Amino acid sequence: MKSFTYVRADSPAQAAAALAEPGAKVIAGGTNLLDLMKLQIETPSKLVDINRLPLDKVEETAEGGLRIGAMVRNSDLAADPRVRQRYGVLSRALLAGASAQLRNKATTGGNLLQKTRCYYFYDVTKPCNKRNPGSGCAALAGFNRIHAVLGTSDHCIASHPSDMAVAMRALDARVETVDASGSNRTIPIAEFHRLPGDTPQIETALTPGEIITAVTLPPPPRGLQIYRKVRDRASYAFALVSVAAIVEASGGRIHSARLAFGGLAPKPWRVPQAEERLSGASANGDTFNAVATAVLDGARSHGSNDFKIPLTRRTVRAVLAQATGT
Ligand code: SF4
Repeated sequence: MKSFTYVRADSPAQAAAALAEPGAKVIAGGTNLLDLMKLQIETPSKLVDINRLPLDKVEETAEGGLRIGAMVRNSDLAADPRVRQRYGVLSRALLAGASAQLRNKATTGGNLLQKTRCYYFYDVTKPCNKRNPGSGCAALAGFNRIHAVLGTSDHCIASHPSDMAVAMRALDARVETVDASGSNRTIPIAEFHRLPGDTPQIETALTPGEIITAVTLPPPPRGLQIYRKVRDRASYAFALVSVAAIVEASGGRIHSARLAFGGLAPKPWRVPQAEERLSGASANGDTFNAVATAVLDGARSHGSNDFKIPLTRRTVRAVLAQATGT
């Protein structure tokens, strides 16, 4: 194992300054990073420990939303009464992820930054443009059952593994950061994760040294909140397809809807045209089929993951039927 130095940060700005050094990595819960270090996929020269930063609170915002510190553990966030009552889709998405032990350690910021579970990314004997830019993509012609069908490129077809981020995408969360100069900024979650294009190794909008300090949720939207995760086994498995849905409907008519998807793309995925198709529509099978078609516009599968397209279609129909009571 490559040796590294260790520093414990006393403030977010100090952590960001320490991270600006080439080869430095932040460690929070460590549930992903330590695995990557054991496999020598990540070989940091310095670890910047942010576990003692005062970023572990969930606070009300003046607008009626919640501000979630980057160090709030996934289990604490899922159990927070305000989250359970007003953001049920987020609580359920968190509880659908990983195992209880991992959720007790994993943090809000770390969850957003977790790496893909592409098998070839973790196998250092195989080409992978995300791990080793320019080496190729073993998944394109390999076993790609868990891979993306939307938003991919010829350089990478990895899917994003987070459940939490899918719910946050449906809720229009905003990610707050600080950089090495101490400057703060806010990034809409829709712009936080990047599509692979020809640089799949660059996964987020964060600049070198910039760290997440909080995630802010706007006031909860009206409507029923659902998180449905389809996976190979009932727990401790990543989504093949997941849907975070917030649907306001009555009398067989849909007033508004938000649908965010996991397991389908390199980032939590939303399709505005599909949501517009639902606004004011009758809650029936024809509407649900049309929405599923809009969601899958441009979908491209790669062999082992062909099943994801009909599975997504069925999942969209099932979630909308549940949300509208039809
Ligand atoms: Fe690497 Fe992406 Fe290809 Fe997986 S899909 S092997 S992460 S380049």
